[in-house]
Amino acid sequence: MDSFKPFDCPFDKVFPSELLRDDLYFMKLAYNQAIRAWKLGEVPIGAVIEHKGEVIGQGHNLVEGLKDPTAHAEMIAVTQASSRIGDWRMNEATIYVTKEPCPMCSGMMIMARFGRVVYAFSDPKMGGMGGAYNVNDLEKSNHRTEVVSGIYKKECRELVQAFFKIKRALKENS
Ligand SMILES: [Zn+2]
Repeated sequence: MDSFKPFDCPFDKVFPSELLRDDLYFMKLAYNQAIRAWKLGEVPIGAVIEHKGEVIGQGHNLVEGLKDPTAHAEMIAVTQASSRIGDWRMNEATIYVTKEPCPMCSGMMIMARFGRVVYAFSDPKMGGMGGAYNVNDLEKSNHRTEVVSGIYKKECRELVQAFFKIKRALKENS
């Protein structure tokens, strides 16, 4: 059994100016969520949902803590967002996530009819928005979402890579 102990995070939260609420601003908030995940010993992935300029949902990976394979950042954020606006339809919302969503979360984004999906770095192994395959290519699906990638890419990728590097090193030295 892999015992999952939290370890120190060498990265700090960022403090974007609230004056310019662009894609970079919301992605930085998602990055801060990812840092929170790391501090709990979770793979550092964070998500934020924007609706009419406001954050209506946010979350980070909690798979280990909740022992729940569905506890991805995006799933936690969307549950919060739909309860906040009292609607499961996210046509007017944008979801920001630090890593390209997996097949489960990409599917959720279509089911929830997200207007936009913005992710930082792509995942050629498991990404469902163009990295490994694309949910937007499902021929008979009647929803397409706008996908933007590459926002705050270097920082978000570095966070995940450093997490696994340190975790591996700790394991080898234990
Ligand atoms: Zn996922």
